Amino acid sequence: MNIVRPIKSVDDLSKARLLADRDRLALEEVAARYAIALTPTVAKLIDRADVDDPIARQFVPDAAELVVTAEERADPIGDHAHSPVEGIVHRYPDRVLLKAVHVCPVYCRFCFRREMVGPQGLGTLDPAAMRAAFDYIRGHPEIWEVILTGGDPLVLSPRRLEEIMRELAAIDHVKIVRFHTRVPVVDPQRIDATLIAALKASGKTTYIALHANHPREMTIEARAACGRIIDAGIVMISQSVLLKGVNDDAGVLADLMKTFVETRIKPYYLHHPDLAPGTSHFRLTIEEGQKIVSSLRGRISGLCQPAYILDIPGGHGKAVIGENSVRKTADGCFSVLDYHGAEHSYPPSE
Ligand code: SF4
Repeated sequence: MNIVRPIKSVDDLSKARLLADRDRLALEEVAARYAIALTPTVAKLIDRADVDDPIARQFVPDAAELVVTAEERADPIGDHAHSPVEGIVHRYPDRVLLKAVHVCPVYCRFCFRREMVGPQGLGTLDPAAMRAAFDYIRGHPEIWEVILTGGDPLVLSPRRLEEIMRELAAIDHVKIVRFHTRVPVVDPQRIDATLIAALKASGKTTYIALHANHPREMTIEARAACGRIIDAGIVMISQSVLLKGVNDDAGVLADLMKTFVETRIKPYYLHHPDLAPGTSHFRLTIEEGQKIVSSLRGRISGLCQPAYILDIPGGHGKAVIGENSVRKTADGCFSVLDYHGAEHSYPPSE
């Protein structure tokens, strides 16, 4: 199909033949609560013949989103509890999130900020709020890193991004600026020389954390977009979410991580899915996640290993939750698990 415009409604999904046998009435109810958006690039990636297509599962709404379980919450990682001024989340001493925009080019059905992003979300910071956010960063010399997230900061125009970088460039204690984005994958043409230039500022190091969850997202165009970013001197790392029906398989995950490394992107985080409302159909248990992640150890190079992490609900930050492969034994030694699951004593007894 020749899809040229973003898909933003159940009607658009139907015209693009992306509804399959989904219950349209239920989807209208989902759409009234959570934003829908697919770029033409993503819509074209979906295999309409596969009812379990892992790309469709990430972006096409599902009636299961109407099921909200008791443990789910509107702000699963506790942004609000650590927000001293609008748009800033200051959870750890040396870094802040700067949420300049709450719009994304696509809306992930498992989004941890689904109550904040989208047309009915928190919107874009106005000039006064941006000034207050920069004042906060300026007034806290312990802030070494500013992470632009939201929302997807790369939906902003190069001019707006340049303004943000200019403000940050003037703050001596900020050394690192990190962008969290899906744009190189979902809208690779957007990554042109003007946009890339806007992400750089003299005296600062820019990192881009790419969010992608399935190897099929890393198309030739997406890899080329990442190549342009990296060739310009920006470091890229990855973040993925471990999702039931998308990548809860060691082979799929291994391919994804290898593809990142081949693209010169260092695998960084593999997130356990957060307790966002209406997302229980994506969540596996931590034990299931640990099993998949530990099977990556022997399977793929150390370069390809992400850290499996949980954002502790309530805003308590991140914890590494990979299988505990070392424990102290009664004789004061350690028992260490190898990638086959066999135990070894350390130091060795002979
Ligand atoms: S790109 Fe990030 S913030 Fe936007 S919908 Fe997806 S997970 Fe949420």
